[in-house]
Amino acid sequence: MRKLIWPVIAFLLVTAMLSLGIWWWAYGTALDRLSARGQTELSLAADRLQSYLQRFRQLSVVLADHPGLIALLQEDSDQFVAESERLLLETADKTGSLEVFVLSASGVVVASSRGAYDGQSYAGTEYFRRAMNGALGTSQSSDAQGRAFYAAAPIQRHGAPPIGAVVVKADIEAVETDWRANPNILYFTDRYGVVFVANRFELLFRSLADGGIAQNVAQKYGPTKITPFAAHDQSRLSGHDLWQFSGGGRFPTAALHLVRHAPVIDLKAEILIDATPARLSALFQAAFAAAASLVFGAVLLILTQRRMALGQRLRLEERANLELEQRVALRTEQLSGVNLDLRQQIKERREAEEALKVAQQDLVQAGKLSALGQMSAGISHELNQPLMAIRSFSENAEAYLDRGDLATAKNNLSRISEMARRMGRIIKNLRAFTRKEGEPITNVDLNAVVGTVLEMNEKRLEENAVTTLWNAPGETVMVRGGEVRLQQVLINLVSNALDAMEGQPDKQLEIAIEQAPSLTRLSVRDTGPGLDEAEKIFDPFYTTKIVGASEGMGLGLSISYGIVQSFGGKITGRNHPDGGAVFTVELTPTGLEEAA
Ligand code: ADP
Repeated sequence: MRKLIWPVIAFLLVTAMLSLGIWWWAYGTALDRLSARGQTELSLAADRLQSYLQRFRQLSVVLADHPGLIALLQEDSDQFVAESERLLLETADKTGSLEVFVLSASGVVVASSRGAYDGQSYAGTEYFRRAMNGALGTSQSSDAQGRAFYAAAPIQRHGAPPIGAVVVKADIEAVETDWRANPNILYFTDRYGVVFVANRFELLFRSLADGGIAQNVAQKYGPTKITPFAAHDQSRLSGHDLWQFSGGGRFPTAALHLVRHAPVIDLKAEILIDATPARLSALFQAAFAAAASLVFGAVLLILTQRRMALGQRLRLEERANLELEQRVALRTEQLSGVNLDLRQQIKERREAEEALKVAQQDLVQAGKLSALGQMSAGISHELNQPLMAIRSFSENAEAYLDRGDLATAKNNLSRISEMARRMGRIIKNLRAFTRKEGEPITNVDLNAVVGTVLEMNEKRLEENAVTTLWNAPGETVMVRGGEVRLQQVLINLVSNALDAMEGQPDKQLEIAIEQAPSLTRLSVRDTGPGLDEAEKIFDPFYTTKIVGASEGMGLGLSISYGIVQSFGGKITGRNHPDGGAVFTVELTPTGLEEAA
């Protein structure tokens, strides 16, 4: 808002100057019109007065040639006086003169239209002096009867010096009455600036001359009559003379003053025209212009303010947007940093998983080899026994053939073939077992897996006098998994159980399959001493057996754990309330893999 102060001040100044200019122009134009009208009025008035006085002058000139009056001055007789006075009275009556009288060469009245003359002397008057010099004398004066205009013509014969003068006294008020109705102040001043004719009584004998009134003026009108003109200030506006009256009363507060010289009567015609309407009209026009300008300015100001406010709001929004963008950019940068970290982590994790998988596979293989090591003694015995039997059966068969006992020889051969089949089965199991398995998860018969494992451990169970409790279900029990890996898990559990029951008086291995709708549970229970630290048994390299010997590596259960988990199953180990350890393997039955 502060930014607008100076433009507003400048605008106000321009408005003020504009209004002032309009006022000045309008006032000047109005005064021009007033002036033109006033001049016409003035010239009409001056003409009127001049022609009025001219009449009496001409009368005086005509009368001066009258033989009666010449005779009167030449021969001073009562008869001539009486005749002259009749003539003068008649003339005065017909012409409307106040008085017509004849002055002698010494300036004394010798005959008058008024009759009884008192021998008054007019020798000192200006008009008389001029008449006695042979010129036409005119003058205005005032006396007890009032103001009057005097026209004096010399009475003379054929170029001889004047012997007297005839004077016509004319009334001034008669001409003034015509102007009374005029609203303007109209007056005539003499060469001393004294108002002698006016359409306002109160102006009469007022002087424009401040203070020192000339002596001759005082003589002319009498000193007491002259008063200063009404107090006023004068100023000029576009070539016009303006008078301001402060006294009020019958004078307008502002008036246009016009002057016109009337040389014939030696007076100055002046007029004061009320300029108030012109001033009011100029003021009105100036005020209108100012109001229009202010309204325009106000509208402009409001628009500017709105635009500024809008601009400010836009700038604020822009700044807010910019800040937001910066923050978004910063956040994006941070996020992409975090994203990069996460990707790196994911990559590392994948690599770790990959490594773990490889390690697990290696461990599985290691576990298999370890189990194979454990079983190798039993297996070599297993293979050795049928081999020995095959040898003796084939030797016997030879002997029977020699003897011709074909039936017995045939029986021996079929025993040999049975032994060979059994050996083939054992070898096939071993081969499958030691093969590195990458096969996918398929449907496996859990029943068959248990059968195979028991078969593989048959020798050991027998040697250790373990009672095997295995109630095989009548039908196949299909679960999701890998056949060899499941075998590996079960071999592990069985050999752990056998290890645990070593040296125990009562050795029982109980294997059971339990089928629920959503899962199949395989449990292996022994009558060993139970688990020392059940929570640690699945940790890699946790073993209570002699490390380094072929017996324990502490890997069997952790590998089994990984295998069962890879089937989507679960393996747990706990102590049975009646003694011994129970291991449970939970697997997904076939047909439920989607649910699993
Ligand atoms: P290892 O057999 O090589 O020791 P395992 O991971 O198979 O490795 O077993 C780890 C440990 O769990 C064994 O050392 C043993 O202490 C314990 N354990 C496993 N099975 C049984 C069981 N049936 N009864 C008692 N303890 C067992």
